Amino acid sequence: MTLKLLLASRNQHKIEELQQMLADLNIKVISLNDVSGAPVIEEDGQTFSENASKKARLTAMYTGFTCLADDSGLVVDALGGQPGIYSARFAGEEADDQKNNRKLLQMLQGLDAEKRQARFICVIAISDPRGNVCTVEGKCEGRIDYKERGTGGFGYDPLFIPDGYTRTFGEFSSEEKNRISHRGQALLKARTLLEQKFIGVSGNGLII
Ligand code: IMP
Repeated sequence: MTLKLLLASRNQHKIEELQQMLADLNIKVISLNDVSGAPVIEEDGQTFSENASKKARLTAMYTGFTCLADDSGLVVDALGGQPGIYSARFAGEEADDQKNNRKLLQMLQGLDAEKRQARFICVIAISDPRGNVCTVEGKCEGRIDYKERGTGGFGYDPLFIPDGYTRTFGEFSSEEKNRISHRGQALLKARTLLEQKFIGVSGNGLII
């Protein structure tokens, strides 16, 4: 029996990226756009892992599908780890990518390159319908540039230069970014987890 995996997201960009990376596994990937009445879950955890686990567990238990959820963000050393789990809302409730990036540049004004270290983190949680959750984490180390460069990607991509490169993620193609990004790394581990613990273990994806 083919495992149906529900992605706890309505973000089309994310759904396509995840579907692409899981395409060759023997599973059918669906998203919240394909199921009705799934609960809206408040992300009130203190860590990426707490938020991803809560989303995966509650969505799986409510819908009866094995569920994959992620939480990700940018951690800047000079800011004591900010924006972290608040990456999407860094510039306030009305924030958008442009406002968040502007705020980040302002807060790092005057800091030399070696003090602009940062990393993207992504935690992926997978839960079976009974609420048994496993998590994996991916990281991408780098630094924050002095101005936005490139139009690719989303969020903080135009400001983030991954270690070993001189370009920002905004100047990467999506395939190139997926190969080294926090989400790409976490997804590689999630694939292994799915193969080892969820696919073929039992038809409905229960960990037994
Ligand atoms: P979420 O995990 O979709 O809630 O993402 C939280 C926020 O982190 C996003 O709104 C972005 O601001 C930031 N973020 C997460 N992943 C990336 C990335 O790959 N590039 C740029 N920004 C990211």
